Amino acid sequence: MLMPDFTYLEVKSLKEAIGQLSSKGAKVHAGGTDLLGCLREDILSAEKLVSISQIKALRGISQASDGGLRIGALTTIAEIETHKTIRERYSALARAASEVGSPQLRNQGTIGGNLCQKPRCWYYRGEFHCLRKGGDTCYAYQGENQFHCILGGNTCYIVHPSDTAPALAAFEASVRVNGPAGSRLVPIARFHVPPGENVQKETILKPNEIVTEILLPPPVKGLRSSYRKVCARRSWDFALASVALALQFDGDKVAKARVVLGGAAPVPWRSKEVEEVITGRGLDTETITMAAAAAIKDAQSLKYNGYKIPLFRGMIEEELTAMARA
Ligand SMILES: Cc1cc2nc3c(=O)[nH]c(=O)nc-3n(C[C@H](O)[C@H](O)[C@H](O)COP(=O)(O)OP(=O)(O)OC[C@H]3O[C@@H](n4cnc5c(N)ncnc54)[C@H](O)[C@@H]3O)c2cc1C
Repeated sequence: MLMPDFTYLEVKSLKEAIGQLSSKGAKVHAGGTDLLGCLREDILSAEKLVSISQIKALRGISQASDGGLRIGALTTIAEIETHKTIRERYSALARAASEVGSPQLRNQGTIGGNLCQKPRCWYYRGEFHCLRKGGDTCYAYQGENQFHCILGGNTCYIVHPSDTAPALAAFEASVRVNGPAGSRLVPIARFHVPPGENVQKETILKPNEIVTEILLPPPVKGLRSSYRKVCARRSWDFALASVALALQFDGDKVAKARVVLGGAAPVPWRSKEVEEVITGRGLDTETITMAAAAAIKDAQSLKYNGYKIPLFRGMIEEELTAMARA
């Protein structure tokens, strides 16, 4: 397919970006690794692309005033992967970043774009006027659904595609959003929109709003974190299943747990079931087996994605076992 016509505008400030985005058909362009494909494949249309790549204030990683970390929305995935403090204190996030696509994509793709990317469902990306594109059918429900969701499916059965979002959710990060009305801080757990709330939106962003930064809270004492991704191929691929763990240990016991699944649901999926099983206990074999079973207790497979249920169970078992030995 040919790239459609659009105006391309490079802005120098946030104010200018928000002003330009207020006109009809305008879209944010960051690294372009997802957006340009979406335009070419006619998944979305744009009359004007507003490139934010020259807004210096949106770049870089720095310490926040509360001792946490501030990651500008234009920070590349590669910068996150290699950043010393992130590797040492938020290792699940560095690991998740290292799992994104290929080196080229990690050098070009930004964290803001990673959180706002469109889903990978082949019906949505193909020539199907599905529910998410304003039609009246989810073609995946009765169709080729081997890569679709097993949790939280409700009218639309996509899986959320970002690797970094589950890791950021496990750390209880917040997303700063700027728009004409000013700035607001949104917990990442509320940033992505489940299909039951609005089947045509992936995030809470309004058309003239921009993600400007991500804030990570200071790491607490005894925190250990990890990210594990299973794909169909070893080369670049999206997650069939992934899990981000951020566990705070008090001695051998888990004092607090955040467990977030990727490749499971239309949004990064917090598994409160796993958290409940492991909180207050040591990670012995019995607890780990119970926790992995709890993760998929409410899972409902479609015709071709039943393999995801044992896959999640096995992956969570392995990851908790590795965490117990760390
Ligand atoms: C071949 C291929 C493989 C991939 N593999 C993976 C993978 O394994 N894991 C993974 O997580 N992702 C993957 N991606 C998805 C994605 O391209 C990257 O993750 C990248 O981080 C997107 O960032 P970008 O800056 O290029 O976003 P863009 O393409 O510029 O934008 C993506 C979307 O976000 C919006 N947007 C961008 N920045 C902002 C902002 N600051 N505020 C508001 N809206 C914004 C854009 O309008 C657009 O809708 C892959 C993509 C491709 C093409």
